[in-house]
Amino acid sequence: MKTIRVRITAEELEAKRISEILERAFEDDGNPVTIYEATPDGRLWAAEILLFDMEPEEAAATVRDRVGADAFAAPLEAEELPDINWVEKSLEGLKPVKAGRFVVHGSHDRDKVPGGAIGIEIEAALAFGTGHHGTTAGCLEEIDRLLAMREYHSILDLGTGTGVLAIAAALQSRQSVLATDIDPVATKTALENARLNGAGHLVKGFTANGIDDRRFRHYGPFDLVIANILARPLMKMAKSIGERMTPTATLVLSGLRVEDGPRILFAYGCQGFILDRRGEKDGWLTLTLVRGRKHA
Ligand code: SAH
Repeated sequence: MKTIRVRITAEELEAKRISEILERAFEDDGNPVTIYEATPDGRLWAAEILLFDMEPEEAAATVRDRVGADAFAAPLEAEELPDINWVEKSLEGLKPVKAGRFVVHGSHDRDKVPGGAIGIEIEAALAFGTGHHGTTAGCLEEIDRLLAMREYHSILDLGTGTGVLAIAAALQSRQSVLATDIDPVATKTALENARLNGAGHLVKGFTANGIDDRRFRHYGPFDLVIANILARPLMKMAKSIGERMTPTATLVLSGLRVEDGPRILFAYGCQGFILDRRGEKDGWLTLTLVRGRKHA
């Protein structure tokens, strides 16, 4: 996929204003927007947005169009980013990762899983989730901790990617786990990985956007949901996730930047959830929330 980065450089306040305008203008398409200090002295800031599958000139024109040409006088540059397959890239030279009692590894490291650990084999695939990302590792640690403390009867891994979290929960609890993803390639990969790890009979799944799909009616209400997605979709889904969980459920949310914490807690607070535990890894936040009781 062709990725174009459009960068607008300005003084701090102006750059912040521009990034807010960009976020609003592209909110429905969900294009990533970011802002950072462009010079070490903090004099100049850069607001950036990523656009996909177009030429740089078209990307620049789209940004100007949507925000209105006179919304800012700052210079605007559009540049194509090198086409990197990030999934493949992230799998290069992967070493086994230990998180809680789980060790996530490729087939070449099958014999490196120590006794007592639960090995999860994940092969290079076009889905996210090898255990190397701080969010995946944070969720694995929570799954280990939560399942060791109490039994759960209806578990959902929302946004399953490679299926790594669903497989971990299934192998540890020996219970069936539902795994869903918006991306059909991910769902297929997750179910294949579950079979590869001897959890094929435990992990069920289908492709769906969020948790409103009618097929969810055959499952739940869930007493444990693990959703490693991103702050924005998780904010939007707070109500529907809350509605499909039991009154004393546990919810693990990740894919959050540290600064997303307060608004996520507020959105899920409206659904009766309170914070049980908060973990940070490489700038990523994993939140464990509980409802109807003090601790998970
Ligand atoms: N659970 C894995 C993968 C996390 S990546 C892990 O922890 O490593 C996030 C996944 O969420 C991606 O596979 C993406 O396709 C999926 N996703 C994003 N938006 C979604 C939505 N609205 N509904 C369901 N899945 C979604």
